[in-house]
Amino acid sequence: DDSLSVTAMAAPLGVRYMLVLVDDTTESRRLEEVRRDFMANISHELKTPIGAIGLLAEALVSAADDPATVSRFAGRLMTEAARLSNITREIIELSRLQATDALSEPKVIDIDYVVASAIEQSTVAADAKKIEVARGGAKKARVYGDESLLLVAVHNLVTNAIKYSPEGSRVGVGVRATDDEIVEIAVTDQGIGIDEDDLDRVFERFYRVDPARSRDTGGTGLGLSIVKHVVQNHGGEVRVWSQRGRGSTFTIRLPEASESRAAALGLEKP
Ligand code: ADP
Repeated sequence: DDSLSVTAMAAPLGVRYMLVLVDDTTESRRLEEVRRDFMANISHELKTPIGAIGLLAEALVSAADDPATVSRFAGRLMTEAARLSNITREIIELSRLQATDALSEPKVIDIDYVVASAIEQSTVAADAKKIEVARGGAKKARVYGDESLLLVAVHNLVTNAIKYSPEGSRVGVGVRATDDEIVEIAVTDQGIGIDEDDLDRVFERFYRVDPARSRDTGGTGLGLSIVKHVVQNHGGEVRVWSQRGRGSTFTIRLPEASESRAAALGLEKP
């Protein structure tokens, strides 16, 4: 949408200018709607755990004489507090992302290191479900960007793969560089998969195929929208292949840190 406005503005014809105005109005109205939905979603997502924490605290006070009940309520209190903290962290991450340009001062990032770190950070979750996370493709791949953001993105895909997979299954993380200078990071699982109808919606903020299941696993529905933003900030794209009951593959595609990429970004040779 933005590029349409820019191209049209550059054209000298008055008629084109009209087109820009019309386009901008719809665009700003659409953005306003997105913003309003986002705020409504945030309030809802925050209200649920905050309300639960209040109720559980009250229940704790009245159950003070009964140790078994106290410990049960305290456990649930901890779960709700953890959820609240997850949501808050992810909302902050998302707004930080919307305000950063990963390519304004890009560094050369070693993708193998990012992948290894993401897997390392998922060890506890994987071990808890006896899931083996295997790395394939030892390709030395480098891209331009921000290491901590890329780590968040790959880590989100790996934790999702673990979250939505049965015990004892396998998750694979592969890295490869294509002939047309694209670095691909593919995260494959043998999990529950996603129906075709939901596939293009899973990247929306707060969208969850199964809200109850996502909540049970501490999900916020923000993980994939963060992945999408990070990857777009790096000039890349995310693809997903999935089949209900068979598993999913999420692929992050980023421009390789090549000479032509350096030239395009106005940088010195890699
Ligand atoms: P959540 O915090 O709920 O995991 P995400 O934005 O990361 O939020 O994902 C959105 C939804 O997409 C999830 O709730 C889940 O329904 C679905 N999903 C994401 N990754 C997978 C996967 N690897 N396998 C099956 N479903 C997935």
